[in-house]
Order: sequence, then C-alpha cells, then structure tokens
Amino acid sequence: MLFADIDILDENLAVQPHRWVGVRDGRIAFVSEEAPERAVAATFGEVYHGRGKLLMPALYNAHAHSPMTLLRGFAENLPLQRWLEEKCFPFEAKMTAEDCYWGTVLACAEMARYGVVSFSDMYYASEERARAVLEAGMKANMCEGLVAFEEKPYAEYPICAQMEALVADWHGAGDGRIRIDYNIHSEYLSTETVCRDILDIVRGTDLRLHIHLSETEKEVRECRERHGGLSPVEYFDRIGIFDVPVTAAHCVWVDETDLDILQARGVFVANNPASNLKLGSGFAPIPEMLRRGMNVCLGSDGMASNNNHNLFHDMYLQALIYKGATLDPTAVTPQQALAAATRVGARSQGRDDCGVVAEGMRADLCVLDTTGPQWCPAPDPVYNLVYAGDGSDVVLTLCDGQVIYRADGHSAGSEGQWPTIDLERAKAECAARTARIIGEL
Ligand SMILES: [Zn+2]
Repeated sequence: MLFADIDILDENLAVQPHRWVGVRDGRIAFVSEEAPERAVAATFGEVYHGRGKLLMPALYNAHAHSPMTLLRGFAENLPLQRWLEEKCFPFEAKMTAEDCYWGTVLACAEMARYGVVSFSDMYYASEERARAVLEAGMKANMCEGLVAFEEKPYAEYPICAQMEALVADWHGAGDGRIRIDYNIHSEYLSTETVCRDILDIVRGTDLRLHIHLSETEKEVRECRERHGGLSPVEYFDRIGIFDVPVTAAHCVWVDETDLDILQARGVFVANNPASNLKLGSGFAPIPEMLRRGMNVCLGSDGMASNNNHNLFHDMYLQALIYKGATLDPTAVTPQQALAAATRVGARSQGRDDCGVVAEGMRADLCVLDTTGPQWCPAPDPVYNLVYAGDGSDVVLTLCDGQVIYRADGHSAGSEGQWPTIDLERAKAECAARTARIIGEL
C-alpha cells in the first residue's frame, strides 16, 4: 500500500503534514516528504489517498482477558469482591474452550475496529485464543492463567507441561505475531515455590512474564500480613521475579519503596484507568512513574470491568484523570499517553520493531478520519488526537501490512469491513453462548 499525501504521527509523536508512506512485505518501506517517482509508486499495490486523514502507529493493549467479552454488561455496579465471587467466577466456571475462542474473535474485531493490533492476554484456553488471533491477522502475547495454591513444585501442576507445549507449538507463530508469556496471576493466587520455579524457566530465555500487581488496597494489606510486612512488589522482588521482563498490570497501591524497585527493574506497568475507575480500585501513581522515566503502557483489562476495547478511551482517561486527581494540569501529557498506547505497549510485548511510524518498522498502522467537526480547528492536531479524537475515527487498521479493518466512504454511524473476521457470526456465537451460560447459572 502507498499512502499518498497523508498527515502522520512521527517517531517523536509530532504530527507532520503531507507525507508519502510506502508499505511493503509487512514493513514501512519509506516515509517521505516527496511523492515517489511514478515508476517506484507503481511497484506498490493500492494507493491510499490521505487528504483529511491521519496515519499513526496502531495501538498495543498491554493487559486484557479477551474471552471475558462474553461477560460484557453481566456484572455491573457491584463492589469488587462481590463482582468477582458472585458474578465473574460462577460465569467463568461454565465457560468452555470454544466459548473462549469466540470471545476472543469478538474481542479481535472490536480491537481492530479501534486501531488496536496486538494485546497481552491472560486467560485459559490459550491454543483456542491463539488460533483466533492468527486467523484475525492480529498479534497477541498469550499467557495461560495460573492458579496455584498447593505447596508443591510447579512441575507437578498440569499447567507446567501445558506451558511447555504452548511455547514449543505457538511461541513465534505467524512470523512472530503470537508470543507466549508465562503467567503468575498474582501474589494471592500463587505459592512462592511456584513463583521461583517459573522464574527458573523464564530466566535466560526470550520469554516474558505477565502478572497482576497491587491492584487493590486489600491485596496489599493481606500480602503484608502473609509475608512479614512485605508489599506485593517487595515480595516478588525478593524472589527475583523482576530479573526477567515483566508486564505488571495495575500497580495502583504502590508506595515510594515499590516505585524505587519497579523503576530500578525496568518493569512495564500496564495502567488500566477505565477498569480501575469502574471497580473503584483507585488511581495508579502514573505521573510519578512518568517523572521517574518508568515504562508505562495501557490496558483495557477484561470486559466485565471496562465494557469496551476502545483503547482510545483509556488513552483519553490516562491523559485526563491525573490532572484532576493531582490538581496539576501538566500531570500526564498527550504525548505520554500516546507513547503508552503505542511504542511502550509494543516494547512491553517484546515487539521492539513495532509501534512507530518510521522506515523499517513493522507496518502496524491505523488511519483516522480527521474531517469531523471535533478536529477543527487544530493548530497542533496531536492534542486533538488525545482530547477529541476517538477510536470511532479509525477508518483503516493494518497489522504487519495486512488490512484487518477498513471503512471506506466513511460516514457517521456506518461500520466498515473486517476482511479477516466474520463479525456477524462472532456476535451471534457470543450472544448465544452468554445466554446459555446465564441459563445454567
Ligand atoms: Zn486483569
């Protein structure tokens, strides 16, 4: 594809007008201020006319539970413990691997529609989820959810052999689009022995860890009671968990000592502002993390605590809520929120050649229609991109150069096409499966 005369969000997260961008073999072949020679242009396929459009890196969702799409709207307005124990756990106990597959297909369609090409996904039925992602032409870091209460080595849990097989069969599948991460669900759902065993497996490999960390005040209080006053961050650090690359979701209830550790260890913090607000969990100290130069990325979390995979919403919240919470209008800049949703998210997934519009990078891109009234006037559109733009402005999403969503001749309210996904089938399957499960409860 050749993008002609299109505004772009460049590697410095600044908007540059009137560029030509060539995409070939899944990568960005060139970015230029000049139109290529006619002979060169002819070697590209489709010419995409860019007037009234903004080309930017696609988005990377650093924390998701994609099959929980089936729980969308099912568990509302409840305190966290009742939400989990009375609603989520009984529903999830009825979910089959095929339910997980269809929940993931629908999640992929939704993410593609909002410019998201890749997600770090923690759940069960990893093979079915990976299959759904490969078929959708998208990317994911899959981890199989670990719950380990018994005092025995990791090798004696069936998940140990399952993870070995997953890594052998799926890690790097689809030209690297699928990666397998190891999971430690959280301090409270795993034993120290199992954490140490998992660390031994991951250390020295190109694998990564995806964990939940200090999401609620209760979690931190109970951890301190169990572990001689240690916070979850201190507990995991003592074990050595942060010696390997870790994406830690939430980090809401962290103190200065915790931040010192997370900063020193280069941990990727996946902030989930919508989920943390909806469940009343609190505000992660994102401004302080950014001041420290820490790796902050963005996640949607599961659909029982967010209701949408529109990561533009989370980006908007990240740029906005800390201004109110800290009474500082400079708390998180739009550029910092954009970086979290794009290149930092990609790096958190071990995808260092993704998340930036620059020559040689993988062509994970989305195009926004900027002809709507909310985009005018905009002397520097980067601010409007975060404060007024939205996932619903996305009219094209490419993953490794392949179109996974497009809405040509876009008009308000009209939906586009998903060339790799049968959306009507996915909606029907998910609706029927959720109805079945609710009927069984
Ligand atoms: Zn989560």
